Amino acid sequence: MNLYKRQVLLSNIGKTGQARLQESSVLIVGMGGLGCPVAQYLCAMGIGRLGLIDGDVVEASNLHRQILYGVNDIGQKKINVASRRLKKQNPFVCIEKYVTYLNHENAEDVIKKYDLVVDGSDNFYCRYLVNDACVLFKVPFISGAIDQFEGQLSVYNYGDGPCYRCLYPVPPLPGQVQNCERAGVLGVMPGIIGTILAMETVKVLLRLPEILSGQVLQIEALRMLFQSFRLKRRKECSSCGEQPAISNLQVSKELAAQVSVGSHCQGRRYRVLLQLST
Ligand SMILES: [Zn+2]
Repeated sequence: MNLYKRQVLLSNIGKTGQARLQESSVLIVGMGGLGCPVAQYLCAMGIGRLGLIDGDVVEASNLHRQILYGVNDIGQKKINVASRRLKKQNPFVCIEKYVTYLNHENAEDVIKKYDLVVDGSDNFYCRYLVNDACVLFKVPFISGAIDQFEGQLSVYNYGDGPCYRCLYPVPPLPGQVQNCERAGVLGVMPGIIGTILAMETVKVLLRLPEILSGQVLQIEALRMLFQSFRLKRRKECSSCGEQPAISNLQVSKELAAQVSVGSHCQGRRYRVLLQLST
């Protein structure tokens, strides 16, 4: 409790809230730019159990934005480096490692073990898989994305709120959205979005009011413009609608074959593309 003294002082946290955080479990999908700050803050704040899933290794081009890793870690599995660092940061948090990628075969087993999922993945197969699995297994999730100097995030599948397919019904076709590797990204952007993901995680775990569900926050950092737009649950949504077409993860299996697994970002340009196409 000494570690958390300053946040226990907060009237809407208190000892009860802190105890609830320590009883909570969160799965972080993808330990890249977004996953790093989310994991660090959740670990520091004393979340009881943190699951980390990613099969990737640390590369030199990751280091300007993936702040758990250093030059000496290049070539090592991200999950192994991250869990070592996080255990040093706060040994009282249980870190559960999954040195693999989330896929349609392991998603059910992994996701069901957690109260909440934070999606920091970088490809559409994984984003839609997280959505469909979380809706099927009734787990709320928070998803963030970054694109150059912009980012967006929202809380999905929370209470009666919308899911990711209510916003983007189907994944974009290959080439419709720019690849992050080509478009570039400023190092601090995932930090900005990631810390807000951590904030919303705490709000959901503690059931605090004004959770970012039913609205999408959009940030343009060059103008330091924060905007949010409302997102309603769609009755005809294939995932969370009244008669959902998606009743298992078979669609994700098909998606794996159709959508190239790359580093797609999806900021404003994708939203604009969608608006133009609908
Ligand atoms: Zn939906």
